Amino acid sequence: PGPHRVQNRQEADPALASAVDGLISGDRDFFNTPDSDPDLPANREWARGILERMKDSTVGADAVKANTLKSSAELDEAIAMGVDAAADWQAMGAAKRAEILHRAGALFEERRGLMLEVMGSECGKTLDQGDPEVSEAIDFAHYYAQRGLELENVDGASYTPSKLTVVTPPWNFPMAIPAGSTLSALASGSAVIIKPAGQAARIGATMVQALWDAGVPKDVLQLVFLAERDLGRELVSDPRVDRLILTGGYETAELFRSFRKDLPLLAETSGKNAIIVTPHADLDLAARDVVQSAFGHAGQKCSASSLVILVGSVAESRRFNSQLVDAVKSLTVGYPWNPESQMGPVIDKPGEKLMRGLSTLGEGERWALEPKELDDSGKLYSPGVRYGVKRGSEYHLTEYFGPILGVMTAETLEEAVAMVNEIDYGLTSGLHSLDADELAYWLENIQAGNLYVNRGITGAIVQRQPFGGWKKSAIGAGTKAGGPNYLIGMGTWSDAPVSQ
Ligand code: GLU
Repeated sequence: PGPHRVQNRQEADPALASAVDGLISGDRDFFNTPDSDPDLPANREWARGILERMKDSTVGADAVKANTLKSSAELDEAIAMGVDAAADWQAMGAAKRAEILHRAGALFEERRGLMLEVMGSECGKTLDQGDPEVSEAIDFAHYYAQRGLELENVDGASYTPSKLTVVTPPWNFPMAIPAGSTLSALASGSAVIIKPAGQAARIGATMVQALWDAGVPKDVLQLVFLAERDLGRELVSDPRVDRLILTGGYETAELFRSFRKDLPLLAETSGKNAIIVTPHADLDLAARDVVQSAFGHAGQKCSASSLVILVGSVAESRRFNSQLVDAVKSLTVGYPWNPESQMGPVIDKPGEKLMRGLSTLGEGERWALEPKELDDSGKLYSPGVRYGVKRGSEYHLTEYFGPILGVMTAETLEEAVAMVNEIDYGLTSGLHSLDADELAYWLENIQAGNLYVNRGITGAIVQRQPFGGWKKSAIGAGTKAGGPNYLIGMGTWSDAPVSQ
């Protein structure tokens, strides 16, 4: 379970404000920021206000325009400015940098409603999906601020930060990932150029504005959008860039590496993740967690479960299978400003691959629920569930990034684990079982960076459940975001403090 959910979001919470003071003075340990409790009457009213503003929100649009670079000369200037700015940021020292980052966390909290408004209007995020994302961004601010302090205090090794880090975040976690990547680099002493995804430009700009308002100088953190595709290639290829933090598809990472062979890349990439459900599972709980992991944010998470593997008698369980299909069928699909909506639209009209996932069955497969287009936007689909997915089939091995769940069956847990491990990616993986021997076997053999037992497989939590991939789901230092080692690989060491 996540952190407790409290708070009257209509009023600034004095306890949270004093906790941030405690973090700054060093008197308080890190804590996970609570999400909003949607059942409190005060919060319902707060949420209503956000939804009213959401549909027609244009927050951030001016900033996007103002920060769009049009030529190579402008980009060159931005890179040179970032490299220059790094010296002062480093000289400032970790303690002062940490204070600024803690203040950024407090500002994210103050602007939670604004962030939710922009994420909903621009990226289709429902409040229940966006709210934990704001909490995660706040957690990153406080957590990395503290980890940054430690870099200056390692016995027998001295640390030199990178000068310039480029951050190219995705649109699916349009606040938490841009914030986390940027904050980690800033905490490590590096200047940053962030280029948010085009589909998440306004929320990217709104997040960066909070960092500037907290005191990060504008040359230390530059927000850029690029008018031409070629400029992206120039940014990624520039040898003055010491590090590039990418979250995105595996193909994007490969493309970036083709631009610059020695690219110092830290990347979290694709996933094709499964939850295994054995006969020893609490099946009611398993059905709930599969649905949440498969269809949260319309399945547009690297961490999403787009496969469930039913072991032995679970495949025949009428109760489990009808519960699963009924739960998916009952999801209310709609735009996030509609308070009824439980699942929003997909970000763009589906490309060729997602379209295939939504409309084409492989051999032996059948729809228990066939996805349907619900309006003429081309983006609003009802969720799909396909049964009969075969081992080695296209559906088994492909990441679609949309609201589709495939059901596979296995005779034994060993077979189910083998089915997971033959996928190229290894990001998240789940087991639903209450049997200790099954758990031990799965833990020993499953190949994925983030393992979840008897819960959903999305929603990593800073410090408690650091997040990073294995196999084709990660490129780079191999450390996990929101974990103790993430900053260690961001600079260079006179002597390595710990092995990564
Ligand atoms: N950290 C997110 C989670 O745990 C996933 C990030 C992603 O989709 O890139 O759900």
